[in-house]
Amino acid sequence: MPVPRCSGPCGGARPAALRRPRTGGAVCRTCFCSAFEAEVLSTLQTGRLLPPGAVVAVGASGGKDSTVLAHVLQVLDARHALGLDLRLVAVDEGIGGYRDAALAAVRRQAARWQLPLTVVAYAELFGGWTMDEVARRAAQEPGRARACCTFCGVLRRRALEEGAQRVGATHIVTGHNADDMAETVLMNFLRGDAGRLARGGTLGSPGEGGALPRCRPLQFASQKEIVLYAHFQELDYFSEECVYAPEAFRGHVRDLLKALEAARPSVVLDLVHSAERLALAPAARPPPPGACIRCGALASRSLCQACALLDGLNRGRPRLAIGKGRKGLGEEGEREGCTSKTRGRPTLAGAIQAF
Ligand code: SF4
Repeated sequence: MPVPRCSGPCGGARPAALRRPRTGGAVCRTCFCSAFEAEVLSTLQTGRLLPPGAVVAVGASGGKDSTVLAHVLQVLDARHALGLDLRLVAVDEGIGGYRDAALAAVRRQAARWQLPLTVVAYAELFGGWTMDEVARRAAQEPGRARACCTFCGVLRRRALEEGAQRVGATHIVTGHNADDMAETVLMNFLRGDAGRLARGGTLGSPGEGGALPRCRPLQFASQKEIVLYAHFQELDYFSEECVYAPEAFRGHVRDLLKALEAARPSVVLDLVHSAERLALAPAARPPPPGACIRCGALASRSLCQACALLDGLNRGRPRLAIGKGRKGLGEEGEREGCTSKTRGRPTLAGAIQAF
């Protein structure tokens, strides 16, 4: 079968290189990358996410999502004079056999793009606790299956905030994409967590309680297109799976979503847009959060999630902080989890639809 000509803005001047997973249109590399960048720009502008002059901390994990995010923001900033001041902030969770290699990728990116890089480590921020130590301690407690991402996500959120504050950022951006968001929506449904469902569809958080505003410029970009964009731009990223990722509940949700997507290809974006339109009945709304009595962060109880978790760890009872339902951490950590998990994620060969 002959390769079709590009149906994009080049008007067929070049042969098509792929069918866009999002639209099914046959496009060349140049038209695909331009369309991808234009869609991210539209997300930024429609949501008014990053005002001119914003000092932007990019949560950099070394994985494809944050790599593509940092690259696209630089391209858009240069092309459209957005007035952004970009800085990379990476979190070292202290996961042996995994994070060192991922951080090496972030360092190569910082050097290639000449962007300032700050690395904040759990051990430094959390009284010597590394994720490996947290996992060891959690495994000693009987009762529930291990769920390291639940702990890690809470600490990551705090660590990224701390790193961003250190570099003088006014905004935080993370590489969460449409598939991540759809998984989160589905997880919240499966947990019956109406509160998180209702606030999970926005493009970010406005920065309450002294926290920096956060946003997700890739929220409407699919995993497949991110893989393709990284390939066509020859981006250097890290793609190994975290040693704790196979334990995560998110992995089961991802498998379910893949099965649903096979029957209904639009299911990922449908879920993301559904969450945008959800609103809680007044009677179901949780009370407004207060301030953590220890660190001042937003908290629905006397201690915020991170302080409650550290308290539990230091007392030798980390699972006390997890608890159940609204009173505990639930699976919050996985909701805020990193984008370094690879199980069920598309490979380049899977993302490109051959002609
Ligand atoms: Fe932490 Fe991500 Fe590893 Fe889970 S997969 S333990 S959130 S680094």
